[in-house]
Parts: sequence; structure tokens; C-alpha cells
Amino acid sequence: MLTTWLGRIEERLRQALPGYCAFCQSNPASEKGWCDECQTLLPHNPGACPMCAEPRSQSPTDSVERLCGHCLIEPPAMARTTADFLYTDPVKTLVRDFKYHASTRAGVLLVELMLTSPPDTTDAALMGVPMHPAKARERGFNQADWLARQLARRLGLASLEGRCVKRLPAQHTLNRRARLENLRGAFIVPQCLPERLIIVDDVVTTGATGHELARQALKAGARRVELWAPARTPRGRDW
Ligand SMILES: [Zn+2]
Ligand SMILES: [Zn+2]
Repeated sequence: MLTTWLGRIEERLRQALPGYCAFCQSNPASEKGWCDECQTLLPHNPGACPMCAEPRSQSPTDSVERLCGHCLIEPPAMARTTADFLYTDPVKTLVRDFKYHASTRAGVLLVELMLTSPPDTTDAALMGVPMHPAKARERGFNQADWLARQLARRLGLASLEGRCVKRLPAQHTLNRRARLENLRGAFIVPQCLPERLIIVDDVVTTGATGHELARQALKAGARRVELWAPARTPRGRDW
């Protein structure tokens, strides 16, 4: 049943009817855009590492948040990462429809998914991961900046803009070390930062981008930097 459900998602997202669940198209949608049944079928990321949101193979039996082994040994610059869903379908299809086909409906659903369990945003400003201008021209928009602006509007927060001054190769082909190396000097963040900055991205892969931006933001005066994305990929072997 689950396989069939997943298999139909892409087509259904494109044909989505107002008033019906975006994922199954058969039940009436809640105001978020999907039904209660699909809410339980979504790929949640419970018990993830609070610092990098690395998924756990099993949910912890207690409610204590535990750091993953990587963060214990080499903590990233961000104090916390919120990524409540796994980068698998149907969230993966949403991210791809949004990013590569500029589907506003997919973008709006991602914003709603993120708002189901937002981080503490008290006195925070949001900032989307900056994109190099040449890449933004090719793609037509910066998906992380779009998410940050929508979230900021919904939460009544300021949204800031950084700059990416280095054309980065496709990060998914690189392991974390190579990503970190590549990212050095790539970002310029605003110099008047609030004490608390939340960086928004569409998906967290190794956390290298969040780490580099958080490092720059801390240097520029932020006291605490967090990362917030709808989805997290398993860290796997490329760490
Ligand atoms: Zn549904
Ligand atoms: Zn971790």
C-alpha cells in the first residue's frame, strides 16, 4: 500500500486539487494541505541529533536529546539543526518539484511541513543559504531564500540576505571534507547580525554548508546560529 502511495505522489502533486490532500488526493485536506492519514505516513525524523539532525536508525526510548558521534567529536558551528523529515518520498519529490521545476505549490507545502514543528524563533532573524548570482540566473530563483522569506513573513521575523561569491561545484558529488574545503571563502554574511540567526536551506546533506555559514555569522557577531530545513539525508559513507 505504501509503495503504491509513494508511486502516485509525483503525478498527484502536479495535478493537486484545491481542498484535497496534496499527497493522496482522496481525503479532504486540513488547512496545511494534507490529510491526517498522510500526516502519519510522512517520513518523520524522530530522535535526530539535535546539533546536525542526523537521523537515527531507531528512536531513542527516552526523550533526552543525544548528540551523534560526529558532533561529540567535532561539533559543527551551528548550535542546533531542525530537519523534521527525511529526504525520501514524498518530501524528496516536493523538494525536487520546488527546486528544479519552481513549483510554488510544492514550495508552499514545504513551508507548511517546516511550520509543523518550528525551532524557537524568539528574537531571531532568518537567512536563506545564499546562491551564486550565475547559478541563481540559471535556476531562475534561490529556493533557500524563497523558503526563508516565506517563513519570516509567516512568523513575523526579519529575513536577511547573504552573498555567495564563489561558484561552487555540485556539492552532492563531494564528501564532507571536500565540501568544507570548497566552501571556504564562499559566503559573505551581513555585518549587523542579530544575536540569534537561523539559516534556512531546502535540504541538509552533510551540514557542511550550514557549518561554514554559521562560522561566518558567529565571526560577524551572532551569538547563536541554527540551521532549519524541511529534510535531512542520512549521512551515510560520505561523512
Ligand atoms: Zn492524504
Ligand atoms: Zn550530530
